[in-house]
Amino acid sequence: MSRVLVIGCGGVANVAIRKCCQNSQVFQEICIASRTREKCDALKKALEGKTSAVITTEQVDADQVDQLVALIQKVKPDLVMNIALPYQDLTVMDACLECGVNYMDTANYEPEDIQEPSWRAVYEKRCKEEGFSAYFDYSWQWAYQEKFREKGLTALLGSGFDPGVTQAFCAYAQKHLFDEIETIDILDCNGGDHGYPFATNFNPEINLREVSAPGSYWENGRWVEIPAMSIKREYEFDQVGKKDMYLLHHEEIESLAKNIPGVKRIRFFMTFGQSYLTHMKCLENVGMLSTEPVEYEGRQIVPIQFLKALLPDPATLGPRTVGKTNIGCIFTGKKDGKEKTAYIYNICDHQECYREVGSQAISYTTGVPAMIGAMMLLTGKWKQPGVYTVEEFDPDPYMEALNQWGLPWVVSENPVLVE
Ligand code: NDP
Repeated sequence: MSRVLVIGCGGVANVAIRKCCQNSQVFQEICIASRTREKCDALKKALEGKTSAVITTEQVDADQVDQLVALIQKVKPDLVMNIALPYQDLTVMDACLECGVNYMDTANYEPEDIQEPSWRAVYEKRCKEEGFSAYFDYSWQWAYQEKFREKGLTALLGSGFDPGVTQAFCAYAQKHLFDEIETIDILDCNGGDHGYPFATNFNPEINLREVSAPGSYWENGRWVEIPAMSIKREYEFDQVGKKDMYLLHHEEIESLAKNIPGVKRIRFFMTFGQSYLTHMKCLENVGMLSTEPVEYEGRQIVPIQFLKALLPDPATLGPRTVGKTNIGCIFTGKKDGKEKTAYIYNICDHQECYREVGSQAISYTTGVPAMIGAMMLLTGKWKQPGVYTVEEFDPDPYMEALNQWGLPWVVSENPVLVE
C-alpha cells in the first residue's frame, strides 16, 4: 500500500497524477498539494469515479520548509513527488529529510532570484571552474548525498523525459548495446503545431531561461560553451521529417559525463521553428526575458513573470496541438572490438496524448516518467540510500515500464549521425 504526496498541479503534474491513477495497484493514495488549491480540487473532481486511488488535496507554499514539514507530517506519504518548479527542489528535499521521506523530481535546482548574493557567489565560482554558465546545475542537490544516505532515504533526481528517460536510454545502451560508449547526441524534436505564433510547451519562465542561455557540450573531459543558438543542424526525424535543431546546454549532460565511463563527447539538440526563435529574440532584445524585478507604477514586477501571464498556459495547449515528438539518443562506440552506432528513441503523438489524459505530448512525455520513477522507488526496484540520477539505477525495469505505460521506444542500428 503506497501513499504519495504530489507537490504542484501544473501541466506535468496533471499527467503524472492521471497516470498514477491508472496504476492504482501501486498508487493507492494520492495527496495533491499546490500553491493554488482550486487546481488540485478540479483535478480530483475530474478523476473521481474513474480510479480506485483515493485522492485528497491540500494547499501549500513549497518555498516554505515549515509548511512542507507540517503537510508531510499530516499526510505521512511514502514518497514526495516534487512536480512544482525547480525553484522548490531544495526546500522540498529539506522537508523530506526532516520527515524521513523519499524524494523525487523532474528538473534540477535553479534559484528564482539569480541576483541573491550567496547563490551568486557560488554560481560565479562554478562558471569559472566548470566552464558553463547555465543557472541550473546538479551541485546543489548532489550536496545532499550524505544527508540522504545517513537517513537511509533515496532522492531520485530528474525523472522526466530529458532529463530522465534519455538517461535510462544511456544506461540501457551501456548495459546491453556497447562495451564502450564514445559519443552521445541527445535529440529532442517536437514536430507539434499548436497554431499560436508563440507559446511554450512547459512552464514559460523555466523554458525561456533554458533556451535563451548559452549552449554547451562536454568534450574530452571539459565543457565547451558557445553563444545561444549558434550551432544549428538539420536532421530527418522518423515520423516527423526534416527539422532544424540547435545545440543547448542541458542538465543530463552533467550527470552523464560523470556516470558513463570513458564517454568522449555529449551534446544536446532541440528543434525550434523560425517563428519561435524570432519571437524569443525579440522578447529578449526588449528585456522581456529578464528575471530582474523592475519598478512599474509603484510596484516591482519581474518581466519574465509578466510575460508568463500573457502567454498561453501550456496546460491548455492539448486540444489544439497536432503532430508528434521524437526524442532519443544516438550513440557511437564499440562492441566486441568493433565500431558500432545505435539510436534509441520514442515517438509520441500530441493528439493521442490529449485523448488519453487531456494534455499535449510534452507534458505527457514528462509526466509518464515521473510516475514510472515514483513506481521504481515505491516498489523497491530502485532502492539505494543517497541522491541519484536515472542512469545510476538498473535501466531494465524502467525501460519495460516505458513500453507498458505509454512511451514505447525503439532501437535503430546504424542511424544517420549528426555532423
Ligand atoms: P507548471 O507551471 O504548469 O506547473 C507548476 C506547478 O507548480 C503549478 O501547479 C504551480 O502552482 C506549482 N507551484 C509553483 N510554485 C509553487 C510553490 N511555491 N508552492 C507550491 N506549488 C507551486 O509547470 P510544468 O508542469 O510545465 O513543469 C513542472 C516541472 O516539470 C518543472 O520543474 C519543469 O522544469 C519540469 N519539466 C521537466 C521536463 C523533463 O523532461 N524532465 C520537461 C518539462 C518540464 P500554481 O498553479 O499556483 O502556479
